[in-house]
Amino acid sequence: MTTADRSTAALAAELDAADPLAAHTSAFVRSDDVVAYLDGNSLGRPLAALPERFASFIADDWGTRLIRAWDEQWMRRPYALGDRIGALVGAAAGQAFVGDSTTVLLYKLVRAAVDAQLAADPARREIVIDDDNFPTDRYIVEGVAAERGLEIRWIAADPASGVTLEQVEAAVSERTALVLLSHVAYRSGFVADMAGITATAHAVGALALWDLCHSVGVIPAQLDACGVDLAVGCTYKYLNGGPGSPAFGYVAERLHGQLAQPIQGWMGAADVFAMGPRYEPAGDLRRFVSGTPPVLATVALEAMLELLEQVGIAAVREKSVALTDFAEAALAEHVLPHRVDGRHAVLASPPAGPHRGSHLTLTHPSFSAVNARLWEQGVIGDFRAPDGIRIGLSPLSTTFAEVELGIAALGEELRRAA
Ligand SMILES: *Cc1c(COP(=O)(O)O)cnc(C)c1O
Repeated sequence: MTTADRSTAALAAELDAADPLAAHTSAFVRSDDVVAYLDGNSLGRPLAALPERFASFIADDWGTRLIRAWDEQWMRRPYALGDRIGALVGAAAGQAFVGDSTTVLLYKLVRAAVDAQLAADPARREIVIDDDNFPTDRYIVEGVAAERGLEIRWIAADPASGVTLEQVEAAVSERTALVLLSHVAYRSGFVADMAGITATAHAVGALALWDLCHSVGVIPAQLDACGVDLAVGCTYKYLNGGPGSPAFGYVAERLHGQLAQPIQGWMGAADVFAMGPRYEPAGDLRRFVSGTPPVLATVALEAMLELLEQVGIAAVREKSVALTDFAEAALAEHVLPHRVDGRHAVLASPPAGPHRGSHLTLTHPSFSAVNARLWEQGVIGDFRAPDGIRIGLSPLSTTFAEVELGIAALGEELRRAA
């Protein structure tokens, strides 16, 4: 071990000892097989209390109350959970619900938005989105544009940073129906200017839809205060809802009467159990729901919301910043100095500050092979084609020591690739 190695390892130990949230890391399932989990931004770790939670759900709610539980609590559940997620992102109650996948919710809300805009003004035929947005966001926009005969105005985003206010200002016009961007870029971790971009969209009469997949549960947002129209987000990333747990949608209350979504099902009808001959949408948020809510798939999400409410999103963000700053220092120590095949790895994320989210991406041509070897050792970040390793820092479940071990192992594998 070099002196430098000792210094980042010692710093990690100091930071863990001083971390006011340290005790919560043991609230999650930890396995000896995992040396460092640096991918909580793709799939959060499970809470250790989940076996009890599921057992009680099956014995009591499902097994005992049986179908009575729909009236007693399950019909309200998508909205009750939506209100709690809404509180994490600055949304007053009655505007968020838990339902389909992020992909399906994007489809429903993009269609709802552009259809309302086209009805008001047939010349609003453009959707603004960036070319580095998450694939599903881009593919949904391509599909809706084809369905509705719309045009896509692509913003060329810097993959090491993200979409700027100036780029949005240059892209929007009175032809823009909708602007769809990610709050935090899935690749670089760049935090976009939600307030400024939303205001810029509104100034030309466009609607703004934000994808919060990489920010909800880790970075506070102010949807209501920013005047955001629509939003979606994952619950299996920083909300630890488990593989495939349903997404949430947000529709600002002022739009409830104006937007209609394309998958009109009985659960979104004005009177669900009237079993009426024709679809009549509910007057409130429920009109954006289609079918039976995925109750079982929200058990883990609810447990994580309780923990987040106990800790508070501001404290979570504080630890996220500390972990990310520490990861940057550990990369400077263990990884960046080494040249492999004539090249250093490059940090492709924003500098410390308000525009940096809770993950860092590092690029090097050898990383596909390096990441595969790290996974074999239980050092789990993720590889993002073509050459990025993403280091995700989920504050409540990640220790500084874990970050140090993982990044030291990355440095070692990179040197071995030489
Ligand atoms: C993870 C993620 C998604 C995932 O969508 P699914 O429908 O849950 O597969 C969508 N958008 C962004 C920005 C993401 O990070």
